[in-house]
Amino acid sequence: MRALCAWRLAGCRLLFSFIAFVSLSCSVFAATLFCQISSFAPDEHSFKVSCTVSDLPTTEKVELRFLDRFAGIERLNDRIFGLQIRDSEGQRRLPEILGNGVYRVDPGDTRNLTVDYEMRLARLTGAAADPGRYALTSSLGPQSGFLLLSDILPTVCSAARLDCAPQPVRLKLLLPDAWQVATTEIESSGAFDVADLARAVFLVGRLEQQTIQVGAMSLQVALAGEMNLAMEQILPLVEAIARQQATFIGSREEGKFLVTLAPFPVALTGLRSSALTRGRSVIMLLNPESNDLEAKRTLALYQKHLAHEMFHFYLPESFVARENFDWFWEGFTRYVALLTLNKLRLISLREYLDELGFEFDAYKANSLRDRLSLIAASQGKFSSAASYDLLYHKGTLVAGLYDLELRVQSKGSKTVLDVMRDLYANYRQREVGNQTVLAMLRKTGKFDSFVRDYIEGTKSIDLSDFAKPMGFTVDNASGRVRLNVAKKLSSQQNALLAPLGH
Ligand SMILES: [Zn+2]
Repeated sequence: MRALCAWRLAGCRLLFSFIAFVSLSCSVFAATLFCQISSFAPDEHSFKVSCTVSDLPTTEKVELRFLDRFAGIERLNDRIFGLQIRDSEGQRRLPEILGNGVYRVDPGDTRNLTVDYEMRLARLTGAAADPGRYALTSSLGPQSGFLLLSDILPTVCSAARLDCAPQPVRLKLLLPDAWQVATTEIESSGAFDVADLARAVFLVGRLEQQTIQVGAMSLQVALAGEMNLAMEQILPLVEAIARQQATFIGSREEGKFLVTLAPFPVALTGLRSSALTRGRSVIMLLNPESNDLEAKRTLALYQKHLAHEMFHFYLPESFVARENFDWFWEGFTRYVALLTLNKLRLISLREYLDELGFEFDAYKANSLRDRLSLIAASQGKFSSAASYDLLYHKGTLVAGLYDLELRVQSKGSKTVLDVMRDLYANYRQREVGNQTVLAMLRKTGKFDSFVRDYIEGTKSIDLSDFAKPMGFTVDNASGRVRLNVAKKLSSQQNALLAPLGH
C-alpha cells in the first residue's frame, strides 16, 4: 500500500511540473496556491506574505505545514508573526496549533482560504547564530536578500492523510524601488510559476547580472550590493570553473543555472563566507577583508567556495539521493573543487598539498575519528559538531587519498575524476545510495581494504602510506602536518606529479 502511495505521489509530482495550477483528477490532495511577498523592510530583516489557497479538493480539515527545522537549524517557525487565516467570506478561522510549524484549520464549504503573516528573519541572524550557516535559510539585509521558498511558504495538506505532495505555487514579489530579482524560475505575466518549493531560490536586491553560455548550460551570474569583487573578476572565474567541471564529469546538463554573490544580511567583521547550492542555484554570502591589501585572501576564499558549490550542480543535484551519505557528496565535492582550481592553475601544487595537510590535521584533531565511520557520521551529521566536522574533513581527506592511491595503482592513467564521470554517466537523474558509490570506488582498482578501513571503518590513517608512493614526504616538525615533494623522484613519480603542476 505504501509503495502504491509513493508511486502515485511521484506520478502526480511529475504531472504538476507539466500542468501547473490545474486541478488534477489524481487522488493526491492538491490545492492551488497563489502567494505574494511584499512590504520588504530590509533593515528590520522582515517582509509580509499573503497566500490564497483555492480549489481545496475537500471540505475536511487541512493543515498548513511550515518547515520548522533544516540542516540542524531549529524553530524556523518562530520567525512567523501574526498568522491570520480567513475563509472566502473574510471570516477568521482560528487554527489549531499542533506545534513544529503545523496549523490545522477548517476551510468550511467555501474550500478557499487566505493566509497572511509576517516573516521576521532577524532571529536567525542574531548574536547567537553562526554566520557560517546564514546561507542555509532565507535572509534579508539592507542591500539584498535570499528567498528560499521552502522555509517561507507552507505546504497545504489534508489533515486526514499523512502523505502530502508539495503543490506548485504562483508567486508575485512586490520589491522595494530599484530592487530586482534573479532566479531560475519562469516568469509569466508578472509572477513566477514555481513547480518545486524545495528548490526555488530568489535573490532580490540592487543587482548586476550577466549570462554566460557553457555548452548547453546557461549560467546567470548575479551580484548584489557593494562588494570588493567586481563582475569583471567573477564572470571569467565562474566560466572557467563551469567549463573545467563540465569537462571533468562529461556534463550533459542544459538550461538555466544561477550563481549569486551577496553581502551578509548583517554587518560582520573579518573574512567569511556562507553558501548553499539548491537545485540549480548557488547561494553565496561573502564578507570580504576590509583591507584592500588583503584582496588576494578574499579572492582565494571566494574561488575555493565557488568551485565547491558549483560542483554541487552535479554532486548531488544531478542525482536522486536514496539516503544521507554526505561523506561522499561533501567530501568528494570539496576535493574535486581543489582539483578544479589546481587544473586551472589557480592553486599550485604547494597549495594543493597544504590543503590536504590541513584536512589531515582536522581529521587528527577530531575526537570521534576512532569511533565513528564516515558512513555513521553522515547519518547523524547534525547530532554533534564533531560528526559534522568529521564527514567534511575526513571525507575530503579520504577523497584525496583515494585519488592519490588510484593514480599510483593505475600508473597515472586514472584519477578520481574517472570514477565521478563513470557515476555520472550511469546514474545521472537516477537513485544512488551508499552501496552504489562504494561499489564504484571499489571496482576501479584494488580498493576493498581502503573502503573497509577508511569509509566503512575507523582505522587510523597513516598519511605516509599514501604520500610515499606519490613522491611526497610528510613533515611533522612544526606540530602541523606538511606534505612536501621529495628531493629525489623516480621518473614514474615525476610523471604522476606533472598533472598536478609539478
Ligand atoms: Zn557542500
